[in-house]
Amino acid sequence: MLGEIKRRIKIPLICDIYFDYKMALAAMDHPIDKIRINPGNIGGYDRYRQVIRKAKDKGLPMRIGVNAGSLERELVEKHGYPCPPAMVESALRYLELAEDEGYHDVIVSLKSSDVITAVEAYRLYAQYADYPTHIGITEAGKAPYAVTKSACGLAPILLDGIGDTIRISLLGDPVPEIAAAFDILQATQRRVRKPELIVCPTCGRLAIDLEAIIAQLEQRLGGRTTPVKISVLGCVVNGPGEAREADIGIAAGNGKGVIFRNGEIVKHVLEADMVDALMEEVELWEREHPNGKPAAPSHNGGRLKLPLVAQ
Ligand code: SF4
Repeated sequence: MLGEIKRRIKIPLICDIYFDYKMALAAMDHPIDKIRINPGNIGGYDRYRQVIRKAKDKGLPMRIGVNAGSLERELVEKHGYPCPPAMVESALRYLELAEDEGYHDVIVSLKSSDVITAVEAYRLYAQYADYPTHIGITEAGKAPYAVTKSACGLAPILLDGIGDTIRISLLGDPVPEIAAAFDILQATQRRVRKPELIVCPTCGRLAIDLEAIIAQLEQRLGGRTTPVKISVLGCVVNGPGEAREADIGIAAGNGKGVIFRNGEIVKHVLEADMVDALMEEVELWEREHPNGKPAAPSHNGGRLKLPLVAQ
């Protein structure tokens, strides 16, 4: 079955195994790309070691998925409840066992449905180890609240430079999870993959039909991966200042506007020509920046930084 799935897909096949270590061992006899287990529910250290040894033999990477909801009972008793130190202690134990086996091809997740627990767990983990992390707020619920909740939890982690892969957990259809993940990465500037529109909320001073202009602009920018910042503001109060900060900007007046490029005025346009004029500037920017902007640094491997916290 796994071989058949692998033949039919063009993305990596990752097996997420719960409870039964024999299923994990069996999965690795098939052409999979990665395995994910929660060592806390796989039946003890010996079984975990067997999974590690096989992953090492097969050259497969593994995600060690620690979850606040399924921590080892002794750690919950020791710490009083499934708190961030208990989650991190669990992860570090399993990393030490993996290192004992000479296996380092791991990524760690420390999931919680509670934003503060997740943020504190990832921050604490980063003090002890730099194996890469998979980040997410688990069981976030139904969009749009779940997207906001995920952004609240992931933004502090991402802005600290933590996080190498990401999952947004939304009720139902998984496809919107991808757009939400890209938006969170874009907003935190960890992975800028589309133009950024800076648009005012509008108010009584508005001097153009800003919503119509933005709708046209979004349509014409759709599918572009250019990491250009475009500011579009509806009047002369904040427009010139914001436009100067962006790569390209327009400050609108009464039915007309001024286009800025890198802070300099380059053109005066009428409202009807604004979208065309901005798109010309975007195309010029793309020609001048064929490689976009420098990417955020990527992860360069992992290790335990400090010994396991005192038992
Ligand atoms: S930029 Fe002008 S129109 Fe837009 S919200 Fe600010 S004051 Fe109002």
